[in-house]
Parts: sequence; structure tokens; C-alpha cells
Amino acid sequence: FLPHLVASLEQVDESYIMVKPDGVQRGFVGEIISRFERKGFKLKGLKLFQCSKELAEEHYKELKAKPFFPKLVDYITSGPVVCMAWEGVGVVASARKLIGSTDPLQAEPGTIRGDLAVQTGRNIIHGSDSPENGKREIALWFNDGELVEWNPAQAPWLRE
Ligand code: UDP
Repeated sequence: FLPHLVASLEQVDESYIMVKPDGVQRGFVGEIISRFERKGFKLKGLKLFQCSKELAEEHYKELKAKPFFPKLVDYITSGPVVCMAWEGVGVVASARKLIGSTDPLQAEPGTIRGDLAVQTGRNIIHGSDSPENGKREIALWFNDGELVEWNPAQAPWLRE
């Protein structure tokens, strides 16, 4: 089977990554952006944003029935967040690995949550859990004009 055909079939995904209010308050915006930049993914959208209750509820609608849902909405709306759209082959799964487990005490050292947080209710960052949710969440948090198509100069040095 021809390797170049396999390569061309590789799916380019998008992940919605968000520094939550505790991550912003604790001064981790630069550190978090850096980890995705250094890995080699492409940034397509970036903004500081105060999220409404309605948007938080829509974003987390799959968790509506959970007992922690009201506290989760309060947490996400408690201060500014930093919204990001990242693109790349395998970015959704890779971002989940870079972020680490939902419970920061279970997250491996070296991951963002493993290095920088101690509790599920203050786990500093969100990352989409599937390519479908990546698309859904980017459309939810960004307007069309806020996403930029561009060609990073380093592209040939990241993928053959
Ligand atoms: N969360 C919480 N308590 C829980 C489980 C989740 O406060 O027992 C919060 C936490 O901020 C988590 C978010 O709800 O990041 C979404 O939960 P999910 O299970 O989707 O985890 P994630 O995908 O963020 O790792």
C-alpha cells in the first residue's frame, strides 16, 4: 500500500482548548499556549473572553444532569477564559494527552493538569473530547471572522 496515499488520508482535526478562569487567574495562559505551540499544532483562533451562563450551559450540555453542573457553570463564568482553536492531524487525542486526566491528582506529571493543578473542580483547562465536539465547540465559542487560515512557515519541518 502506497505510503503517500496513507498520508493524504490522514484527517486534519480541530480542538477547542480553553484556559479556564483559574488558569487565567493563576497566570498560566502563556505556559499553556506554549505547550501546544511547542508540540507543533497550528493556532487558528485566540481570545480573552468573559463567558455567559447561557454559553457555559450550552458548552457543557452533555453534563446537564450531573450533580456538579451548577457549580461547573459558576466556575466557568467566574472570570475571563482564554479561548483557542488548534488544528492538526490527531490534535484532539494529542491535546487530551497533553492536558492529562480530568482529576489533576490522577494526571501524569508532565501533563498540564498533572504539573499545575490539584482538584477536578479547578483543573485549569478544557480540551475537546472528540473531533465532532472540536468542530461543535469552535463554532460555539468563535465567530467566523475570528478564525484565521494561514500557512505556518515551519510546516515542512513538522511533517514529511
Ligand atoms: N467536573 C467536576 N466534577 C466532576 C467531574 C467534572 O467539577 O466530578 C468538571 C471539571 O471541570 C471537568 C468538567 O467538569 O473538566 C468536564 O467534565 P469531563 O468529564 O468532560 O472532563 P474533561 O473532559 O474536562 O477532562
